[in-house]
Amino acid sequence: MQKEKVIIIGSGPAGLTAALYAARANLNPLVLAGDLLGGQISLTSEVENYPGFPEGLTGPELVELMKAQAERFGARIEFDSAVEVDFTTGPPFYIKTYSGEYEAEAVIVTVGASPRKLEVPGESDYVGRGVSYCGTCDGFFFRGKEVVVVGGGDSALEEGIFLTKFATKVTVVHRRDELRGGATLQKRAFANDKIDFIWDTVVESIEGNGAVKQVKLLNRKTGEKSQFQTDGVFIFIGHDPNNSLFAGQLEMDDEGYLITDRQMRTSVEGVFAAGEIQDKLYRQIATSVGQGCAAAMMCERWLAERE
Ligand code: NAP
Repeated sequence: MQKEKVIIIGSGPAGLTAALYAARANLNPLVLAGDLLGGQISLTSEVENYPGFPEGLTGPELVELMKAQAERFGARIEFDSAVEVDFTTGPPFYIKTYSGEYEAEAVIVTVGASPRKLEVPGESDYVGRGVSYCGTCDGFFFRGKEVVVVGGGDSALEEGIFLTKFATKVTVVHRRDELRGGATLQKRAFANDKIDFIWDTVVESIEGNGAVKQVKLLNRKTGEKSQFQTDGVFIFIGHDPNNSLFAGQLEMDDEGYLITDRQMRTSVEGVFAAGEIQDKLYRQIATSVGQGCAAAMMCERWLAERE
């Protein structure tokens, strides 16, 4: 059993910021980075609204900068995932990963959220064969093709605009007649002549023959059903918190987000949480960074009070 002072589970903006602050407080934090260093921002094409970068930068560039800054002060980053935790008897808290077992005096949970599934027939069959949740990862495969984007939020608009670099046509299918996404992205999407919109409509199924060929659509206002030929379906309909490790251990709200107070404390003393695992309201890189900073500061204070 490896003994640690502070373990940070997750390596998105909240986790890497918590690592930076914990490292600068001489807590020698260990980051269990999970499958994807940086979390969702690694899959983001352009980051234009994170202060300090007026020209914008790519998600992976920002992740590398955050990682380098945390490591500069001594944070250790392991490419390993927590598979089991026991927060019921600690501190110390037990964490099992793919390759080891740990005891930590304090834990900061920053495991984020994952793209929500449409849950329609054909969706899971065609993942990687036309169905995608990441324009940055898969857009290249749709060069010269036509794609459907499902959703009306910032992700759908941002990724839809990005996909026009590759696809000849991007059709945004949204379930209402008004977008949820912000004004700047709306303006850019409406001005892009490669982007069309189908309003008040949901995708009922995704069909193909080895690869996606069409979606079946339902207009929610008129009840009219139709078929729409397409080579790909990009789904951006929000996120669900990655809470499965914590069921029965940390209090969650009715949507499965961890409940924290203003000091980023969870229902278990010594376990803190930051970023999208506990934030369904803002979900910005800037807010996750702030929450990660707060969690590390409160963690440091809590450890100091116990000593
Ligand atoms: P979101 O804001 O929750 O939007 C999800 C969209 O998907 C909504 O338009 C919603 O429709 C639709 N939707 C949800 N469930 C659906 C279903 N089952 N079938 C069909 N449509 C469905 O999620 P997001 O776009 O991923 O954004 C998440 C957060 O990240 C937001 O706070 C956003 O501001 C932020 N973000 C910001 C940027 C940026 O600032 N550049 C970029 C990306 C994301 P309704 O509108 O009808 O609810």
